[in-house]
Amino acid sequence: MRIESELRVCGDCLQYLANGPAELEAEAVARIEAGTAKQGGDIVLGGLESEADADGGLGFSWHACELCESQLGGDRYAAAVLVPESDDSDLCQRSGELEGGRAYSGE
Ligand SMILES: [Zn+2]
Repeated sequence: MRIESELRVCGDCLQYLANGPAELEAEAVARIEAGTAKQGGDIVLGGLESEADADGGLGFSWHACELCESQLGGDRYAAAVLVPESDDSDLCQRSGELEGGRAYSGE
């Protein structure tokens, strides 16, 4: 996996990424999951080492959350979008070809 991009996320997203959706409002979960789908990778806490404190905190901001797009001001936290290495997808392609080969030889 490699880091595709780094995000500044809100407290709701922090809680979602750390503990899952259990204690969040359904509306917040829907926003976060829509944002996650848009990023097209796995979202993990961390990254932005040059800006974040030891706990990943970035301080207060009025900028919209970069994951769920919440407009509420609040503390922001570092998160990262992880995508598979290009080598990984080569591997998937190759195994797809192998399966095709197997199907062909079975005829
Ligand atoms: Zn958010």
